[in-house]
Amino acid sequence: MNMRSVMRKLSGRSRSVSGPRSGPLLATHAPDAGPDASRGVMLYLEDITVSFDGFRALNALTLYVETGELRCIIGPNGAGKTTMMDVITGKTRPDTGSAWFGQTIDLLSLHEPEIAQAGIGRKFQKPTVFEQHTVFENLELAMAGDKSVWKWLTAKLTPQQLERIDEVLTTIGLTEQRRARAGALSHGQKQWLEIGMLLMQNPQLLLVDEPVAGMTPQEVERTAALLTSLAGKHSVVVVEHDMAFVRTLAGSHGRVTVLHEGSVLAEGSIDEVQANPKVIEVYLGE
Ligand code: ADP
Ligand code: MG
Repeated sequence: MNMRSVMRKLSGRSRSVSGPRSGPLLATHAPDAGPDASRGVMLYLEDITVSFDGFRALNALTLYVETGELRCIIGPNGAGKTTMMDVITGKTRPDTGSAWFGQTIDLLSLHEPEIAQAGIGRKFQKPTVFEQHTVFENLELAMAGDKSVWKWLTAKLTPQQLERIDEVLTTIGLTEQRRARAGALSHGQKQWLEIGMLLMQNPQLLLVDEPVAGMTPQEVERTAALLTSLAGKHSVVVVEHDMAFVRTLAGSHGRVTVLHEGSVLAEGSIDEVQANPKVIEVYLGE
């Protein structure tokens, strides 16, 4: 029995979710309903294999992320980190394996927009903000989701919506820049704005791919603080190539997963994985 079935048995809610988008799954699509992760695990990846022309980008990958956890995933180039995110977000379908969001949402039965709607937000490496609009408007647009943009811009915000935008501005440290055009922001500030845009949709799980590439040391530090502050309220998975940044982010207790050739090579605290001979070999061999 896999871990998810065990958790479902323990929680006394072991019902079968059969076909795609059937039964209880529909209810989870209501805004803010989200996954049921009451038993602790937010993301289950089990035995995931992805092949590209016979080459295994992911090879029986098994990984669990807990609710509210900040998990760092590290690994040399080509380890399968981005492919793993593609599987979680529905961009790539695995050949085998299972992927669950909480106890009830079968990610492999959903399409990309449905997965986003269910509460998984993804930050790509390259920031994609609306350069011509202000920081505030970018957050406003992000809140609109798939509603018609112009209809939204001309609508009046409720006090709750204004409060939420203020809250996110504080979180991402751009309160003073709220009236600035996004195009005028520094590279790091654009990255934070994009994280803010994801936060406007209240994702339970945030996936962040190599967030500090091209940042100044000060921006790197600020990004580590921002991502750390999101843990607890959200589950955060950060994929990163840079060991030093992972050390800052994970601290001495955070869990770090090392991917190599599409599978988990090691998992533990940063000290544990950095002392692991297999990890040392892989990183030296780069
Ligand atoms: P990482 O993000 O850890 O650097 P990726 O997940 O991007 O690694 O890639 C893992 C492996 O799969 C690499 O060898 C890459 O060349 C290969 N790969 C990724 N996407 C594709 C694709 N669409 N077609 C063929 N090979 C791919
Ligand atoms: Mg990558």
